[in-house]
Amino acid sequence: MKSLFIFGTRPEAIKLAPLIKEFEATPDFDLEVCITAQHREMLDQVLDFFKIKPDYDLNLMKPNQNLFAITADALTGLKEVIEESKPDLIIVQGDTTTAFAGALAGFYKQIKIAHVEAGLRSNNLYSPFPEEANRLMIGQLADYHFAPTQKAFENLQSVNKQNVWDVGNTVIDALLLGLELIEDNDSSILSSFEGIDFSKRIILVTAHRRESFGEPFENICNAIRDIAEEFEACEIVFPVHLNPNVRQVVSKILSDIKNVHLIEPLDYPKFIWLINKSFLIITDSGGVQEEAPTLGKPVLVIRDETEREEGITAGTAKLVATNRESIYSSAYRLLTNEHEYNKMANAVNPYGDGTTSKQIVKILKEVYC
Ligand code: UDP
Repeated sequence: MKSLFIFGTRPEAIKLAPLIKEFEATPDFDLEVCITAQHREMLDQVLDFFKIKPDYDLNLMKPNQNLFAITADALTGLKEVIEESKPDLIIVQGDTTTAFAGALAGFYKQIKIAHVEAGLRSNNLYSPFPEEANRLMIGQLADYHFAPTQKAFENLQSVNKQNVWDVGNTVIDALLLGLELIEDNDSSILSSFEGIDFSKRIILVTAHRRESFGEPFENICNAIRDIAEEFEACEIVFPVHLNPNVRQVVSKILSDIKNVHLIEPLDYPKFIWLINKSFLIITDSGGVQEEAPTLGKPVLVIRDETEREEGITAGTAKLVATNRESIYSSAYRLLTNEHEYNKMANAVNPYGDGTTSKQIVKILKEVYC
């Protein structure tokens, strides 16, 4: 059975890497990898880290790219790739425009499609935009749906999807594999965080969502400023996303505070090392919400809604919106109330146990071999 993995961004690469490794280790499975490189820089270092060599690279990233061009260029490029690769199965992950284009290209060529991390829903077509629509459309086109949680599984069952499995999220497989790969590199990674005092409590911040650009993003940065000023004994580490909408506001509000370290986006091994060293995480990232509880790190989610409610329900994360006061007061409680902190840190991770890739391979073997 020959599979073609199609992806274009860092989170997709991270979440597909352990599955690609599992496919490589499975005798009856032949695979090829196609990247669209919708986001180039951050993707390449993940591929290097996991030693994945793409067979096809559409190299789509352009300055000021837009959804129309990415979709059109991806579809045109993927037609040729599929014609050359001739896969039995196309595998896409998540909700990016690349994942949607990959599923649509597979559909046009009448090739079976597997969707990893299927069934997430915010139930608001315009938020997150365009991801919610991408997920719904991929859900329509896919033949095999690998849901990361019980809730995602139920979302697909409720619309009568066949071939749906609740397998957990490959992000946990990637995290555990990644930590294993960096196990002996502690001091060399530490040396790349010059000026940060790791004997202090570390607060890790990431924010990049389009839905927050503008005023909500200013509120987030002002809240971080408030936290930094109140808790001078903490180190706030903020790897700043490359998007200019993020960079301009962050440097305007946060660049002159001594315990706020604005750093370049980190490569994946350094980032998971940093999660492991953190006391608290403030983020709008989906992947980070899933990773952090495996390492017992409480997460404040700086969004108005999250399609990852399981973490909120389990108590590993708290939704604090993009309101300056609510972000500050939630952080304040966790930094001052040990009981509340421990409750979150010890809550059970609902996103999987690191066996998702193995489960997916087992299922596909039953289907194909
Ligand atoms: N990540 C990283 N470096 C960073 C920030 C995040 O490698 O500086 C990783 C993180 O471990 C997670 C993924 O990127 O697995 C999340 O990506 P992002 O927040 O961009 O997207 P989302 O998960 O919200 O789709």
